[in-house]
Amino acid sequence: MTAAQTSAMRPVVVGAGWSGLACAISLVLRGHRPLVLDAAPHAGGRARSFTHALGSAPVELDNGQHLLLGGYRATLDLMQTVGVDCTSAFTRSPFALTYPDGWRLAAADLPAPLHLAAALLGARGPTLAERWSLTRWSLRHARSGWRYHAADGPAAALFAGEPAGLVRRLWRPLCLAALNVELEDASAHILLNVLRDSLGARARDSALLVPRIGLSRLFPEAAIAWLTAHGAEVRLHSTVTALEVGDSGAGHALCVRGERLAAGSIVLALPADRAADLLANVNAALEPASQMLRAVRFAPIATVYLRYAAGTRLTYPVLTLQDDPRQGHHGQWAFDRGARDPAMDGIVSVVISGEGPYRALDRDALGQTIALQLRSALGLPAPLGYTAITEKHATIVPAPGLRRPDAVLPVAGLYLAGDAADSPYPSTIEGSVRSGIAAAAAIGPP
Ligand SMILES: Cc1cc2nc3c(=O)[nH]c(=O)nc-3n(C[C@H](O)[C@H](O)[C@H](O)COP(=O)(O)OP(=O)(O)OC[C@H]3O[C@@H](n4cnc5c(N)ncnc54)[C@H](O)[C@@H]3O)c2cc1C
Repeated sequence: MTAAQTSAMRPVVVGAGWSGLACAISLVLRGHRPLVLDAAPHAGGRARSFTHALGSAPVELDNGQHLLLGGYRATLDLMQTVGVDCTSAFTRSPFALTYPDGWRLAAADLPAPLHLAAALLGARGPTLAERWSLTRWSLRHARSGWRYHAADGPAAALFAGEPAGLVRRLWRPLCLAALNVELEDASAHILLNVLRDSLGARARDSALLVPRIGLSRLFPEAAIAWLTAHGAEVRLHSTVTALEVGDSGAGHALCVRGERLAAGSIVLALPADRAADLLANVNAALEPASQMLRAVRFAPIATVYLRYAAGTRLTYPVLTLQDDPRQGHHGQWAFDRGARDPAMDGIVSVVISGEGPYRALDRDALGQTIALQLRSALGLPAPLGYTAITEKHATIVPAPGLRRPDAVLPVAGLYLAGDAADSPYPSTIEGSVRSGIAAAAAIGPP
């Protein structure tokens, strides 16, 4: 805040998830002293950690296992800005899909596109016909700039005629991991954008980054310390219940626990349904955005954490599992958390993306069934303890033709960030961070 920027003129960021924090940091870098409000007692929103008893000992767990990509440039830059050492914070490995039965497709640590060519040559499991088909498919889409020329449709159409084994082992798992829905329910445009920025980009962009520390320490805690040290104010336990929008694009206000807070501009860095609530019945110009946000649907993600005896190791730090809900095999990915983090020795996390029959199971039954799946697929013994966390609103459903409001709302001084705002990306950390930075850029200097 410059000397002239009073609290009535300061930007207020509603939401201290990764998008809100990214926005606030960018605002500070532009000379503002924003106020950040969050309803929760902690920052980080959908990507945060907490301490939980697992087996006999408490451990720092994330609300969901997260995987970042080397191409998450905005996120990695921002982490560095707030003082996080990105080299030690992640385990970085070339992009790979490895199944317990030995099927493996792994990008080599070579300049693009050699990293993918080497992946095809060195693959274990795909037939010659599958390799040939994958080569043709990748070249065709790389040549067309990863653009889908038809109007948006289900991503399944991108793989019509491709070998069923490849769809099952490669494209479906990638779609579930990145978009959190089945190929039939995913937007072809959005999936191609993700593939362009990962597999279609430089080898280091497609690298898998598995956090070695809890998500809260990875960014939100460092971000809050940095913001506070740089003159911003962060208030937790502060649910915004209403907006007041000034006529002339200035003089906005927010209600927080009965208190009225003035704001020069407001960024709603909130999930779509929360943003829809706050924008409803405020100003006729905001109604279309509110209704569009109301129509956004959400998809769940479940993470099951299992503790095994110290020293228990998976054959690879990240394994792709073949799910088969009819057999009770719901798990899709298994992460050996102890592989490079001694504090997590013996802990395996298993991820289930999107909707599925697992949703009918309670936490205990889900933990038990995943333990049985790991016994059958990986030969692991009964775990010493487990817990399951299902985030019902983990991501938006990136359906074909999905419409989200523009980040710059049609009332001056009001902005959206996070996966509620229009974007070429699905709900990801990088998408959220970029949207927060874009909202700060739209606000401009003080
Ligand atoms: C289980 C799980 C696994 C995931 N895996 C991955 C992954 O592997 N890779 C990846 O890139 N992405 C992943 N994601 C997605 C990623 O976590 C989210 O896209 C991202 O964290 C969203 O950040 P955000 O700031 O946009 O929103 P949020 O994190 O939802 O932040 C919104 C904030 O607003 C606050 N809030 C809500 N209402 C109010 C109100 N009225 N007043 C004040 N504050 C309010 C909330 O408390 C919250 O802190 C995953 C998400 C989940 C849940």
